[in-house]
Amino acid sequence: MNRNRKKIRVAIIGGGVAGLSAAFRIREELRTASVDYDLILYEQKGKCGGATQTLSDKGYALEHGPNGWLSSEPLTGRLIEELGLTSELITANEAAGNRYIFTRNRLQPIPTTPLKFLVSGLLRPWEKIRVAGEYFVPPRKDDRDETIYDFGCRRLGKGFAETMLDPMVSGIFAGDIHQLSLPATFPKMRSMELEYGGLFKAMFAKKREKKKNRTNSQEAGPSGPAGVLTTLQGGTGRLSETLAATMQDVIQKGKEVSSLSRENDEFVVTCGGERRSFDAVVMAVPAHRASKIVEPLNLQLSQTLQEISFANVAVVCHAYESQTIPQKLNGFGHLIPRRDGIRALGCLWTSCIFPNQAPNGTVLLRTIFGGAHDPEILDLSDSDMIDLVVESTATTLGFKAVPLESWIFRHPRGIAQYTLGHRERVKKVEQFCEQLPGLAFVGASYRGVALNRCIRDAYTIAPRILQPFGIHADSLNEPVSN
Ligand SMILES: Cc1cc2nc3c(=O)[nH]c(=O)nc-3n(C[C@H](O)[C@H](O)[C@H](O)COP(=O)(O)OP(=O)(O)OC[C@H]3O[C@@H](n4cnc5c(N)ncnc54)[C@H](O)[C@@H]3O)c2cc1C
Repeated sequence: MNRNRKKIRVAIIGGGVAGLSAAFRIREELRTASVDYDLILYEQKGKCGGATQTLSDKGYALEHGPNGWLSSEPLTGRLIEELGLTSELITANEAAGNRYIFTRNRLQPIPTTPLKFLVSGLLRPWEKIRVAGEYFVPPRKDDRDETIYDFGCRRLGKGFAETMLDPMVSGIFAGDIHQLSLPATFPKMRSMELEYGGLFKAMFAKKREKKKNRTNSQEAGPSGPAGVLTTLQGGTGRLSETLAATMQDVIQKGKEVSSLSRENDEFVVTCGGERRSFDAVVMAVPAHRASKIVEPLNLQLSQTLQEISFANVAVVCHAYESQTIPQKLNGFGHLIPRRDGIRALGCLWTSCIFPNQAPNGTVLLRTIFGGAHDPEILDLSDSDMIDLVVESTATTLGFKAVPLESWIFRHPRGIAQYTLGHRERVKKVEQFCEQLPGLAFVGASYRGVALNRCIRDAYTIAPRILQPFGIHADSLNEPVSN
């Protein structure tokens, strides 16, 4: 141990996947540097994990929030390996490659090849011609922000934006395509336009590069994103539980942080009336919570964080005996465009994606409600929510049955909405942190809502937060994921 250095005191506020991964990484770096340290993770609830929790009940694995992550992020792979969980990884059933959109009263497959796109009934003939015309649409070079809807209409036409982009955005962000910023939510689409002149041009160029290099990496395609959907035996909650278990010595549960201030060149965290000083602080709570906590630190920062909006989401897991369902559900699930007037955003066919998450002879589905269009969803009683599930299953999947079992998970302000101006807001937060070394904000509110992005964020801040103390942490030499 290096006794010349004073003890380094680090606080992590929030014990979701972002906070847990940040704490894990920082502790590894501090241990490697052989310095004396005090590391505390404050979690307001009695259990860590935040949105990433799995309930195990009657043989079902029931996800509160995320049902997996894509295998394309190397840092998630590294975390899994460091936790000794590699042998527990489970990848989605191949049939999960079949994805559907319910529109115009029909469940229709999302085409995976140009030929399938041509014969697909999802878009009308003139809408397909408009999509093909994307090749000739000149790129927009300026850095002005643009909604997903405007980008979609400009490059691929209104039909594509309303039928394909709208449900995709519901599926990932539970968001409104008229409000969300394309460069903030799908930065790769914007860079495809900027670097290659358009989406088709980029896809063709990447195909050529792949052929030349003879690689077989999985790129994002029209039917789904890059990588394979992956989870752990027992569900995604196993990740947060394992993280929490390895850091029992660091975690303080049932501790709600109320404020963060700066006194005598130190950060002061107030929790339950108790004040404690730290050299560095990682804020890993959602931005609306962070906004309140940092009020004593800086009002402008607090205001910027407050401007990041969130959508309420409700997840209903519902199970049936297989024989009560007329058709075999062989796919990932279906999404529903908002213009079709159905309250559900979509439904995941969980027992097809991960067959081990439901007992033999049963079918487990997860219907998602709420989102930016429907903030009142959380006011519904459990029985009203089940009625909605029965109604939407009858319309979209063609069977009317009361579920054998059901479980409801409500997420007030559950998913951050990267609306127009989001990139500027995040830049302001980052600029503030640059002026105050030792402070960082991580998690789904800022640079990406997916688990992969939260883990990348956490791993990336670890070296930055320790640098002011002369610790040159492990450089992250993994390539950035696709
Ligand atoms: C319904 C749903 C489905 C999703 N599906 C997917 C998916 O399939 N794949 C995917 O990659 N991502 C998915 N996501 C996104 C993913 O779950 C989140 O991005 C991720 O869990 C966010 O982690 P986090 O640590 O940033 O925040 P959170 O999980 O929200 O954790 C924040 C933690 O901070 C604690 N906290 C709050 N305030 C305080 C305070 N004052 N003091 C102390 N502690 C506090 C909270 O109790 C919580 O534990 C989904 C999200 C939802 C809601």
